[in-house]
Amino acid sequence: MNAEIILVGTELLLGDIIDTNGKYLARALASMGINLFYQTVVGDNRERLLDVIRRALTRSDILIFSGGLGPTADDLTRETVAEAMGLELKEDEETVKRLRAFFAGRNMTLNNLRQALVPEGGQVLTNDWGTAPGLYIKKDTKQVFMLPGPPRELEPMFEARVRPILEKESCRVFVSTDLNLYGIGESSAEAKLRDLMENPDPTLAPYAGSGEVRLRITSSGSSREECLEKNRLMLEKVRERVGEYIYAVDGESLEKALVERFSKKGLKVAAAESLTAGLISSRIGSIPGASEVMEEGIVTYCDRVKREALGVKKETLEKYSAVSEETAAEMAQGIRRVAGSDVGISATGYAGPTGENVGLVYVGASFKDKLIVRKLETRRTKLERNYIRALAANAALALALQITDLFGYENGEINL
Ligand code: ATP
Repeated sequence: MNAEIILVGTELLLGDIIDTNGKYLARALASMGINLFYQTVVGDNRERLLDVIRRALTRSDILIFSGGLGPTADDLTRETVAEAMGLELKEDEETVKRLRAFFAGRNMTLNNLRQALVPEGGQVLTNDWGTAPGLYIKKDTKQVFMLPGPPRELEPMFEARVRPILEKESCRVFVSTDLNLYGIGESSAEAKLRDLMENPDPTLAPYAGSGEVRLRITSSGSSREECLEKNRLMLEKVRERVGEYIYAVDGESLEKALVERFSKKGLKVAAAESLTAGLISSRIGSIPGASEVMEEGIVTYCDRVKREALGVKKETLEKYSAVSEETAAEMAQGIRRVAGSDVGISATGYAGPTGENVGLVYVGASFKDKLIVRKLETRRTKLERNYIRALAANAALALALQITDLFGYENGEINL
């Protein structure tokens, strides 16, 4: 079975909103082992949408639509799909009832009732997260799913309504296990895992992460338990080759690992940031529960503030410069002292794009009597300022986990 995603909306086409549904759906399909060959973005225009649908029906078995299911005149997905497939639209009583209940006491315009129209032979996919219901049509060898555009509706709708149908139709269950690696490049990881990456089931494939490597194990079987067992065996093989780099299984990011593990251990962290200018603190702050572990964050761009706020010695700055192992060390110790936290982390470096040594970064961590400073030299032909800053933040977060012995996926929650 191969699938195609059709993203409907002029706002998307013109770049007024950024597509996240395509990414979500593509990853979800990959996790189910379903091939995805096309993703199309099309505006709210009947002729062009019709053209896209007709073409998709000739080349794909599964069509998944995002958007254009709402009540307004430019919401064309439902009508146009019905037209392309030669199906009449009928009002679905159950949906009318749901809409009336939703609008109880408020003015429901006739437009809203359009959302209750269902192509003949189609099935309503109840939307418990918004008003526009989804639709499912199975005709001959084709399966068509229509989902509402807002991601907070589309994502749960896919999981609760679409995934079970796809699994049932293929009589298979697909289960993925994601591994996050830090400290190894994608090509080195691939070199170590090449033969495993050729395995047909479970599959092992890399997918993009910013500055870190992510691997996904996916197996198919007749039950979830069977798949999990297969994934577990593959994970063991992966672990034998690159175990020291795996920091999370089914985790999401270094900052999530940090917040969860520090909070479990009752550890507090503080960050002194130069080139990252708050990025480390902000990433920690983006994780629920951050307030339990984050004590303080200081942006210390200039030397004076490094001295006054963190106690970095004048001689250190003069002798070794602000971007040095020594300064990173004193920044990490300084912030830990100032904040009274268990762990202090620091980052200093050259983000460029002008000047010498662009990409040279030092990150430091101080914990109990331990002090570690790591030097990063990002060697890329085209160095990008924010890329360097993101790598620096990754390195500092990873170091905070390493110095506290909380790196390593044994420390995460694994329910395989
Ligand atoms: P409703 O009208 O009930 O909100 P709909 O199915 O008609 O749902 P659209 O009108 O196409 O959906 O889009 C509604 C909103 O959903 C958009 O304004 C946008 O914020 C968001 N959205 C739509 N498509 C995408 C997408 N591909 N990625 C991210 N967000 C999207």
